[in-house]
Amino acid sequence: MEFSYHSYYLQFLHPFGVSSNTRTTTTSIFVKLTGNGFVGYGEACLPAYLDDTEIGTIGFLEKCREYLGAARSDQPLSEITAEIDAFSESYNAAKAAIDIALHDLSAKQAEQPLHKYLGIPRTPPVATSFTIAIDSADKLERKLVEADNYAILKIKAGTADDKRLFRQIRKLTYKPLYVDVNQGWKDKHMVLDMIGWMKEQGVLLVEQPMPVSMRDEMAWVTEKSPLPTIADESVKRLKDLQYMKGVFSGVNLKLMKSGGIGEAMRMITEAKKQNLKIMLGCMAESSCGTAAMSHLMALADFVDLDAPRLYRNDPFTGLSYHNGKLQSPAVPGIGVQPLNGLFA
Ligand code: MG
Repeated sequence: MEFSYHSYYLQFLHPFGVSSNTRTTTTSIFVKLTGNGFVGYGEACLPAYLDDTEIGTIGFLEKCREYLGAARSDQPLSEITAEIDAFSESYNAAKAAIDIALHDLSAKQAEQPLHKYLGIPRTPPVATSFTIAIDSADKLERKLVEADNYAILKIKAGTADDKRLFRQIRKLTYKPLYVDVNQGWKDKHMVLDMIGWMKEQGVLLVEQPMPVSMRDEMAWVTEKSPLPTIADESVKRLKDLQYMKGVFSGVNLKLMKSGGIGEAMRMITEAKKQNLKIMLGCMAESSCGTAAMSHLMALADFVDLDAPRLYRNDPFTGLSYHNGKLQSPAVPGIGVQPLNGLFA
């Protein structure tokens, strides 16, 4: 196969704030694999607060160059991804980019949309939550107007002023909310009190309220919590699921954490065995990574795939959002195409 990649700077419509930081851009590295007359695309999305850097990711992609150049597009996909995985313990975003491009290429060769290629039904359009990042009160109102199409809002919490934030939101909208604390709370009694209070505020679930290291405290909270608790930072890959039974009630799967679609599918099977609810999420990805994940929506309890809507310069087309709902593309592959010039 022929292998190339290209760094790109995704620009947010509004500065994007979470409990630890605020930023205006996200770097993504887009991967292109060509074989047997077909082209597959993938994305490594690299939010600056995570471990994977642009330089490190490029280093890993270069490490894969020779192997991918010798690999054939008719080789079993899982054989190629297993080899790539063994090159390093880290670089899950780079692994995801290669895995997504391989799935795109393979499904195109099979002339099937990715969901069909994976044996998953296509869902009717699904309501995705829409993220409202941490921001000043005056900007909140404008953001809620922009989110008008979306039936569920995802609120980034985890500041000292969370109750005030909710009161402001509730003055402006009664929509159901997902809350993502991004490890921002540290006291289990306070967390349980907050979850009880948030339930009264119309919150449906709480994502990663406490730091990854506070597993025992998290299990204590989940046992008593009136709302589902969803692991995000606590679960990256399949091996992490062995520690989650009783600790959370569900898990937020992201391709950039799992290293791609193959491992995400294995994680869904294992999570369902453990009666964990499945949330499909994304890093702040373009349509490329998000489209790949959209093909798995029939397997999910919660869908949080709004990232492409947060940008002004998404370089891929083909993923459709209508009235706050998302449907996976029906064309072969992951179903998105790069705009002219992306790989020029
Ligand atoms: Mg999260």
